[in-house]
Amino acid sequence: MTSLICDEILLADGWACDVVLEIDGAGWLAAVRPAAAGDKGDRIAGPVIPGMPNLHSHAFQRAMAGLGERAGPTDDSFWTWRQVMYDFVGKLGPDAVEAIAAQLYVEMLKAGFTAVGEFHYLHHDPAGRAYADPAELSHRVIAAARRTGIGITHLPVLYAHGGFGGQPAAEGQRRFLNDADGFFRIVDAAFAEAGGDPQIAVGIAPHSLRAVTPDLLAEALRMLDELDTAAPVHIHIAEQTKEIDDCVAWSGARPVDWLCDNTDVNGRWCLVHATHMTEGETMRLATSGAVAGLCPTTEANLGDGLFPAPAYLQAGGRYGVGSDSHISVSPVEELRWLEYGQRLVARARNLLLGGDGTSVGATLWRAAAAGGAQALGRKIGRIAAGCRADLLVLDRDHPILAGRAGDTLLDALVFAGNANPVRDVMAGGRWVVRDGHHPDEDKIAADYRSAISA
Ligand SMILES: [Zn+2]
Repeated sequence: MTSLICDEILLADGWACDVVLEIDGAGWLAAVRPAAAGDKGDRIAGPVIPGMPNLHSHAFQRAMAGLGERAGPTDDSFWTWRQVMYDFVGKLGPDAVEAIAAQLYVEMLKAGFTAVGEFHYLHHDPAGRAYADPAELSHRVIAAARRTGIGITHLPVLYAHGGFGGQPAAEGQRRFLNDADGFFRIVDAAFAEAGGDPQIAVGIAPHSLRAVTPDLLAEALRMLDELDTAAPVHIHIAEQTKEIDDCVAWSGARPVDWLCDNTDVNGRWCLVHATHMTEGETMRLATSGAVAGLCPTTEANLGDGLFPAPAYLQAGGRYGVGSDSHISVSPVEELRWLEYGQRLVARARNLLLGGDGTSVGATLWRAAAAGGAQALGRKIGRIAAGCRADLLVLDRDHPILAGRAGDTLLDALVFAGNANPVRDVMAGGRWVVRDGHHPDEDKIAADYRSAISA
């Protein structure tokens, strides 16, 4: 058992001083209690806050950040970016996939993300053939998480079609494709690898309503229930207006409506990029208990549109954040742009509050931590007995935090924390960042550089 004595800490019910955290050998918070005279343990001098779950990641895309920012011969859009991504993906082998994921996960930990939801759709070799072990690339991504110490919810992606109504997939999608049986060979292998490791969870991700037919979606959910009726289910839902139009042309319904009409959307679901919703869809999603997976920097980078956050929050909707394409890897930037997008549209300030809180930074941090934890299906996102020990220690000497206490610390972090004020990071009871450094970061960066130059 390890004991930490914290001077100032954000607990589930608010800020507290002089708190002891008892952490067991498996990385669980065994007790969270007021310090008493004679307590022994490591004293943590900086403010302690819960680590942020990153609920949506495509790890390999980190290596193409910056490659899609050059104007092409036609109007650039999500769809032209996607072609750049398909060209890039054709070049990656297993070693590169693992090296990129490890580099990304180090960057996530240093930025304050202590868990990741890996929406993993790269399954086969560059020619589209299954590897000798069909779950080869799933194992590589999980290995990268283990190496770095980040918690992972591995979400193998079911991808079968190139468009609504079972259209054939395109050449650039051949590494992603599976039928139900092939897909569940990968899912079974991921469950087996996770074993009882509390740092690893497994769910599934039907890629989108474009990529699965209704029958295939139903079959996948049935097969998942045979393994685990609580395992998370993630889906890309309504990112681009073209996708909405195509969905209406195919089914007569918009994507969020279609999903709510045809499946039991509940607390195990995470709808990623629920960007384009009517008022009715916004209410349906908010009251379903599902989590909206928001990726503000990627959604801005790809020109997707703006999530109807004020109406969704008013209806009690849950959300978390993800860095998705990893054009940026920072919980600060995701949360800031979530709020700033709304300010720019409404020409007003301090918009994304819930309940009776008045601090926007603290409200965003708490809500995204809780929603991210739910979406990842792990006991994370808050500092309480029975949860994983996923903690960030902020740098008390950072000028931007001088004179700030309580929720004002989180306002300073979210809106002014450009030079990263995260000093130390614990994930699953293990210190993975000390004084801003990961112990394996030099070797991981060297492996990454050689993978990229190859
Ligand atoms: Zn995505």
